Amino acid sequence: MLKYFVKAPYIRRVALTKENVFIRDNYECQYCGAIAESLDHVTPKSKGGSHEWSNVVACCKKCNLVKADKFINQTNLKLKISPFPPKGNFWVRTIIGNNPDPAWEVYLETA
Ligand SMILES: [Zn+2]
Repeated sequence: MLKYFVKAPYIRRVALTKENVFIRDNYECQYCGAIAESLDHVTPKSKGGSHEWSNVVACCKKCNLVKADKFINQTNLKLKISPFPPKGNFWVRTIIGNNPDPAWEVYLETA
């Protein structure tokens, strides 16, 4: 029986790459749900948006063309999620998939 839980003493940072963003976003465009082909900066880099997890989403070519370097409220696009940095169990979930054996759930805090 698990008596206590040892918390990792540091936050593991996951590299912000196209592939990792696709994994986080399930390879789906976060505007329309189509297959993601590129990344979009929610606040465009040309308008001061930063290249970090909270400002980057997976995006299809079509939405990327619509979005271009506009702010989201200048388009009719809507984000499905609020982009977030992946947490500790991100890689475990990457390996075992999004539907682990229910018996594992107790060990996997929800991201
Ligand atoms: Zn799209």
